[in-house]
Amino acid sequence: MGIFTIASEMGHEEVVFCSDPESGLKAIVAIHDTSIGPALGGCRFWDYRNEEEAITDVLRLSRGMTYKAAVAGLPLGGGKAVIMGNPQKLKSEQLFRAFGKFVQGLNGRYITAEDVNVRPDDINFVAKETKYVAGVTSSSHGSGDPSPVTALGVFSGLRAAVKYKLKTDSLKDVRVAVQGVGAVGKSLVHQLSEAGAKVVVADINKEAAKIVAETYKAKLMDPFEIHGADVDVFAPCALGGILNDQTIPAIKAKIIAGAANNQLLEEKKHGFMLMEKGILYSPDYVINAGGLINVCHELKGYNRDKALSEALGIYNTLLHVFETSEAQSIPTWEASNHIAEVRVQEARGKNSRMTHTFNNQTWIHRDEA
Ligand code: NAD
Repeated sequence: MGIFTIASEMGHEEVVFCSDPESGLKAIVAIHDTSIGPALGGCRFWDYRNEEEAITDVLRLSRGMTYKAAVAGLPLGGGKAVIMGNPQKLKSEQLFRAFGKFVQGLNGRYITAEDVNVRPDDINFVAKETKYVAGVTSSSHGSGDPSPVTALGVFSGLRAAVKYKLKTDSLKDVRVAVQGVGAVGKSLVHQLSEAGAKVVVADINKEAAKIVAETYKAKLMDPFEIHGADVDVFAPCALGGILNDQTIPAIKAKIIAGAANNQLLEEKKHGFMLMEKGILYSPDYVINAGGLINVCHELKGYNRDKALSEALGIYNTLLHVFETSEAQSIPTWEASNHIAEVRVQEARGKNSRMTHTFNNQTWIHRDEA
């Protein structure tokens, strides 16, 4: 299938191929939808097997950003960038600055940030060439590492899921299994233990798991068995695709609420499997939107308290998703997709002048620019 056919089926507005042979930069920027606001999404640096794999990834990820921002109620659209190649060999100031020039050329339709293998220090180089960038280090007046805000949002969403499914406001003695104790998982364990939950942890990094288990008096489990732990909540905070044909039959938890992206291996099939088992699934892009909320605040002039308070709003957003799912007898992932699609459609239908302020400049909606 040709790129135009795929992009039009998935609803993309624009796909840009960027090449700078001097620095070795080969990047693709996909702008999925700017009906609500400028397309924001991180830049991923990955050694793709071929160009087709990179195109598929950037199209899928950028579409996901439109949904994430729309459900979170943010004034942003969805976009994403990928840089092709081995980050260990290719990373340089020259390459990131070349990427920054391409981003600047898009004149604010796309705003970039960190993603896999792109750290705040790399983003600082990008920021030398473009103002359309977020996630620069806090020492450069940015919002810094988004992980603590993501973890707060996940904690808040987990509380909403417990309230909805277990009918309790308290996490005292609620049993939670956290898979992956990296930046987000560890911070989540901290908040859960403070709230009195009984926590089980696992990580393929045995040392990291042991330290977290000792610090928070959590039980340790095998990382490849933790999905089947005898708990109330399973919190995937490691890799995507963890909810699949093999794992779902073993899950004993009544709630899934974790940070990992793309948790359902196949959205439709595995979303239905969870629903049939009576497991309440918190859609990943809804519960893990804290990082995006944080970055969005950086664009307005960063105020950490406001960002944290908005991340707590994921509680109500998730309750709305659960209620919609129950009222319409549809899986929760479908309910959140509907909410996003309605918001995008409403924005598209508005004839009123839509403007967005970014870095003290007014960004005008594409139909009026
Ligand atoms: P991280 O790399 O800091 O931590 C991930 C941890 O998972 C690591 O400790 C790793 O050893 C562990 N891990 C990997 N495979 C595992 C397995 N099979 N079983 C158990 N543990 C395993 O990443 P992070 O920033 O904490 O993000 C965690 C997840 O949340 C990722 O899927 C990420 O895409 C998603 N997410 C993160 C943010 C953020 O702000 N950091 C925002 C949105 C979504």
